[in-house]
Amino acid sequence: MAETGKRRISVLGSTGSIGVNTLDVVNQLGGRDAFEVVAITGNANVALLAEQAKTSGAKLAVTADDAHYGSLKEALSGTGIEVAAGRQALIEAGARDADLVMAAIVGTAGLAPTLAAAKRGADIALANKECLVSAGELFVKAVAKGGGRLIPVDSEHSAIFQSLEDDQHHAVERIVLTASGGPFRTWTREQMAGVTADIARAHPNWSMGLKISIGSASMFNKALEMIEAKHLFDVAPDQIEVIVHPQSIIHSMVGYRDGSVLAQLGSPDMRTAIGYALTYPNRSKLDVQRLDFAKLARLDFEAPDEMRFPALRLARTALERGGVQGAVMNAAEEISFHAFCAGRIGFLNMADIAEQVMDDMAGYGVAMTMDEVFAADAEARRRADEIIAKKEMAA
Ligand code: NAD
Ligand code: MG
Repeated sequence: MAETGKRRISVLGSTGSIGVNTLDVVNQLGGRDAFEVVAITGNANVALLAEQAKTSGAKLAVTADDAHYGSLKEALSGTGIEVAAGRQALIEAGARDADLVMAAIVGTAGLAPTLAAAKRGADIALANKECLVSAGELFVKAVAKGGGRLIPVDSEHSAIFQSLEDDQHHAVERIVLTASGGPFRTWTREQMAGVTADIARAHPNWSMGLKISIGSASMFNKALEMIEAKHLFDVAPDQIEVIVHPQSIIHSMVGYRDGSVLAQLGSPDMRTAIGYALTYPNRSKLDVQRLDFAKLARLDFEAPDEMRFPALRLARTALERGGVQGAVMNAAEEISFHAFCAGRIGFLNMADIAEQVMDDMAGYGVAMTMDEVFAADAEARRRADEIIAKKEMAA
């Protein structure tokens, strides 16, 4: 806590979908009267970053890209807000003395700055699931060693976190991750083969950033979430289930050994999970849509289809193999996602490429250090790039 009694918060990735919603929640929870915004970070959207810095009264604004330093500096000249740019500056922003850091950068780019925050002892509100998928136990240990709490923001994991009873971990039988099924829930593989990124990004229920939207269409997002769940809740791979629930009202569930299932429900609005992470263990009033059960009328469920959505099968493989397979799957997925968005490969190629890189690197053991995680990540990226380049040559 700051001497003023205000909660000190930093938002890594403030200009993204989660970042914008986080600043909205900060405002709803009292804005400058309740929070001191220590640092915010963005990438190319300098205009939004500068506006957010001014409105929130942030002490520091960082753009990830050195090329945008000049324009950010100019946009904030005369405000007294400190400006910085580049990878190292992001890490320093993470390390600033906030009580809570919202980790909302997309992809592995968020790992180093979030780790810096964890090591310094901040509570981590974790949206950036790639941190856990990639660095797993090392990341969890870094947070524990720093002395902060790890509070999930991903809606499914927030739901599980809320449905877990204190001291009853031994009685947990299974955790059930719900999945909307995305825009291609009922599509055949033939239909999916030709889609573009613009078609794939149109999510039926949630409004989100590009990567997670495409990941919802391919169910790679759910694959990442299965691995995220393993590390957050310390459960065995066979205790993790996925169920397709097209309405996205039940955000996930915990099944106990007495047959009880506890669930958390809400509108598909990330601000509930963000608010919970910001006020945990308390709940504050939030202006989000209330559920109207009579209007909803029904909740549907169906088994996921791993033939049409092989990403789910890859997550099981990664969980069973252990080692650095999470980092490998995540890195290969990130590279193939960018290649898909650039029109270089087809929608179905993303899983093929991830699978091939995972198989090729199946012999890589557990990472003992973060450097080994970063090395496996880099090697998986190199291999994925190579496969994509070969595909292009052959086409
Ligand atoms: P987004 O693309 O909308 O925003 C990403 C943020 O990261 C932006 O601030 C952007 O400037 C920054 N960024 C992008 N590339 C960067 C780089 N190379 N270095 C530093 N910063 C960079 O993404 P999002 O949808 O807000 O998702 C953020 C994270 O939260 C992801 O890990 C995602 O899986 C997770 N998440 C998102 C949602 C959602 O509803 N959007 C839900 C659950 C989990
Ligand atoms: Mg989620």
